Amino acid sequence: MKKVILHKGKDKAAWQLHPWVFSGAISSLSDKIEDGEVVSVFNIAQEFIAYGIFHNNSRVAVRLLEWHPDREINEQWWRSRIQNAWRQRQHLLVEGVTNTVRLVFAEADFIPGLIVDKYGEYIAIQVHAAGTEMVKTVIIDELNLLLKPKGIYERSDLKSREYEGLPDTNGLLFGELPPEFVDVVENGIHYKVNIIDGQKSGFYCDQRENRLLTAQYTHGKKVLDCFSYSGGFSLNSLQQGAAEVTSVDSSALALETLERNIIANGYDKDKQTSILADVNKQLRTFIDQERKFDVIVLDPPKYAPSRSSLEKASRAYKDLNRRGMMLLESGGLLATFSCSGAMDLDTFKQVIAWAALDAGKEIQFIRQFHQPEDHPVRASFPEGEYLKGLLVRIL
Ligand code: SAH
Repeated sequence: MKKVILHKGKDKAAWQLHPWVFSGAISSLSDKIEDGEVVSVFNIAQEFIAYGIFHNNSRVAVRLLEWHPDREINEQWWRSRIQNAWRQRQHLLVEGVTNTVRLVFAEADFIPGLIVDKYGEYIAIQVHAAGTEMVKTVIIDELNLLLKPKGIYERSDLKSREYEGLPDTNGLLFGELPPEFVDVVENGIHYKVNIIDGQKSGFYCDQRENRLLTAQYTHGKKVLDCFSYSGGFSLNSLQQGAAEVTSVDSSALALETLERNIIANGYDKDKQTSILADVNKQLRTFIDQERKFDVIVLDPPKYAPSRSSLEKASRAYKDLNRRGMMLLESGGLLATFSCSGAMDLDTFKQVIAWAALDAGKEIQFIRQFHQPEDHPVRASFPEGEYLKGLLVRIL
């Protein structure tokens, strides 16, 4: 097997089971290596560290897979990674409760750059690592053996593919094309999921628990769900008996799906209003109108795609949350989220504290939200932790 030798002092992360070797850490290669080839990685003293897949032009030159020298990276190795991931999720799928989970969460499940989501009888996959792209047929075959889905659809239209020299790839990989709206259930609530044209792979199942936890505070309350997408927080609030729900999103398709979801669940349409708008503008309008709400959800898209954008993103999070707080009465609750991996929980808390000072409000943190167990965080790969949230009480 071809060898990759790391520079002295640049091997620490690899020894500590971190799965990425950046090109700058490489001292030499034993031969010319093709993209996607399995290599063994050594330190400068020729001690074996791990096996990985190599890529010539990617920023992450080697994606490490296996630290045991006697475990070969063959077809069976990939199959067993998928089997393990599936075994860990099975208990989340309870008839009538939830039939949508993330089956594979990339590096956290030892499969670099692979995301697999189950939506009822359909599967959506996203691949953003060239090495994993090479074993896609094995992955698809194993998913078929384990889950026997009606169809597997690829939504690999991610910016990150560019860095790996991969073109956008959307299309059917197996079985039948998913219908425009696939029926899924989460927390006992029905959703129409648009796998082909929806955002990401169609649905944000990472908010499953947080939707339910937040909705528990909404009985009889006036709820404002900002960045509602297809209505995750709105629907859970209606389910818990919210008095009225206002949902704001800038995507017409998202709101159209939300309306379908309200009907699919038989909720009272008069209790919900959709507003197609930019959230910040809409919050300003509500402030001008002196509107007040009891519970506000802020679940914006990723404001900080990297560490370098953290400062700018912090200001955006602060302004957004300041506006949200201004619309809450004393005793009101703000459920606020950040899905930026670059922003850790402590920084997020600090930003929310600043927002409160600017809004002239005293607040309490009464709960923390996390990503659920089908989005695990490997201790050696803290980058996988991205979703965090706070439930804030306005005093
Ligand atoms: N809360 C949702 C997920 C939110 S994803 C759920 O539970 O499913 C982020 C959403 O923000 C997307 O639907 C996107 O259309 C919307 N969005 C992004 N920028 C926006 C903006 N400036 N104003 C309003 N909505 C925006």
